Amino acid sequence: MSAPNPASCPTIGIDLGTTNSLVAVFENGQPRTLANEFGEELTPSVVAVAEDGQLLVGRAAKDRLIVAPGSGQACFKRDMGTSAEYRFGGKSWSPIVCSAIVLGEMKRIAELHFGAVPQRAVITVPAYFHDQQRQATIEAAQIAGLGVERIINEPTAAALAYGYSNPEREMRILVFDLGGGTFDVTLLEIFEGVVEVQASTGESRLGGEDYTDALCLWLENRHQWQPQPAARGAWRQRVEVAKRQLSASESASLYLNDGLVQVTREDFREATAAIHARLRPVVARCLRDAGLQAVALDDILLVGGASRMLVVRDFIQDELKRISSLKIDPDRVVALGAAVQAGLCASDSAVADIVLTDVCPHTLGIEMSKELAYGQSEPGYFAPIIDRNTTVPVSRSKLFHTLHPQQDHIEVRVFQGEARLTRDNQKIGEISITGGLRHQPGLHRPGEVDIRFSYDMNGILEVEVTALATGKKQSHVIEQRPGCLSQREIQAAIARLQPLKLHPRDLLPNRARLERAGRVYAELVGPAREHLNAVTDQFEAALESRDSLAIKQAAAVLDSFLRGFFEHEGEAPAEPPASP
Ligand code: AMP
Repeated sequence: MSAPNPASCPTIGIDLGTTNSLVAVFENGQPRTLANEFGEELTPSVVAVAEDGQLLVGRAAKDRLIVAPGSGQACFKRDMGTSAEYRFGGKSWSPIVCSAIVLGEMKRIAELHFGAVPQRAVITVPAYFHDQQRQATIEAAQIAGLGVERIINEPTAAALAYGYSNPEREMRILVFDLGGGTFDVTLLEIFEGVVEVQASTGESRLGGEDYTDALCLWLENRHQWQPQPAARGAWRQRVEVAKRQLSASESASLYLNDGLVQVTREDFREATAAIHARLRPVVARCLRDAGLQAVALDDILLVGGASRMLVVRDFIQDELKRISSLKIDPDRVVALGAAVQAGLCASDSAVADIVLTDVCPHTLGIEMSKELAYGQSEPGYFAPIIDRNTTVPVSRSKLFHTLHPQQDHIEVRVFQGEARLTRDNQKIGEISITGGLRHQPGLHRPGEVDIRFSYDMNGILEVEVTALATGKKQSHVIEQRPGCLSQREIQAAIARLQPLKLHPRDLLPNRARLERAGRVYAELVGPAREHLNAVTDQFEAALESRDSLAIKQAAAVLDSFLRGFFEHEGEAPAEPPASP
């Protein structure tokens, strides 16, 4: 007689959402979401401490927060990868620890179903999560006692769930993912079981919660009223309910200052117009990066609870001239996709024909110095190595050289982002190399270093720096502790805030011009970006020279480039700044 099989739990798929989290598994050829003992599949991503000191998670924590707003924390996903600290229950809590508590709850729900503790998980993150936020998510899983099988982008997971259930269809879809606190747009092609992400872009601090905040503010202004601080949680909750009602009906009513007030969808549209102005460029950028026009799309997949809002659907219809006809529950589709990915990781035969390719959603590069006039150099410029929307995994390298023949040490500062100056991008780590760089007789290629970036399927970056003269290599997985600033960085930030002496660069029209150039730079890739970079360099060099004629000429060239871009985008350029 053989021994009974010990109970086991498959790898679980977790959608760790800003507002709600879900857990799913891939079983018998199908993904399915799991419910807790109350039959609920959505667990609010909220942590709180009860009056008696007990730790609460999920619905209980959410309810407690409504009556005692200072007793816990919601929306901590927005702070992942930062040094944010919350104080409640007499203790301080980090976003990582709060996320770990929610992941622990997901683990517990899976255990309820399988009678065994899950060991590994596929966890979804917004496509726009940067390296530190992904690392923070991995650490949260480790704290919860879960090994991470794969980190997968939320819109990609949604597409995978869709592609899995419709393998025979060949189509180009736009995934419009508006969650509680993040917004991602992803373009993909699905054909014969291949799910190919072509471009992905987003805004990491924009989502359904901003709609609730905007409606709160609009109502407070309209009625010249503000809740007492202790009643703010309950007030916000009433507005949240009204917001949801407006997804199904033309108007909603709610109690404000003991009286019943009405809010219509038109009011809601007015209250949230500024948010839509922030969604628009993200959609345009994604289409542009994929080299597609809206007419080429076959359909739109809506993901995230906030995509239920009718004002959002109207926005999509206005922007893309079509409505979404894909019917998958926007709350569950990401978790289902995570479960399909878990099946792929476990080589489940049911998914043997599915192939998934994803992209790196940010540009990754290093900081470099530019040689200016008079033999001077200026640090702080971004040198891209991997362009955004390159298919992953990917490994790319570029050659750099030291600034001075006697230099024998370099610090490679790694950044991600779309801005031309590194101070406007996200620093994700640093690596230094000493020796073998200085000019010496007999040394071949002194001063040259090869910098290689390798970006894996989880969105984790490895950097390798090789001094070409000696072949000496330094490898480094970027692992900067979230939110930790060195003394030098703090000093640099303070120095930046010091009032600057009035240099032509700081005159308002020139600042505005450089800001606009920076904004357009972020929108472009490849040769157009390089061209703009060169034109901006010339303008900066002219500013540096303080020669007013040179400044005027360089400004005209830069303005003409910017005008060309805005005309092409069909966007009215801002009033051209007056020349200095
Ligand atoms: P997620 O991060 O996907 O859980 O996003 C949840 C967000 O969707 C929250 O901001 C909710 O307020 C919002 N949401 C959920 N259901 C609705 C609905 N029916 N109408 C409007 N917003 C909703």
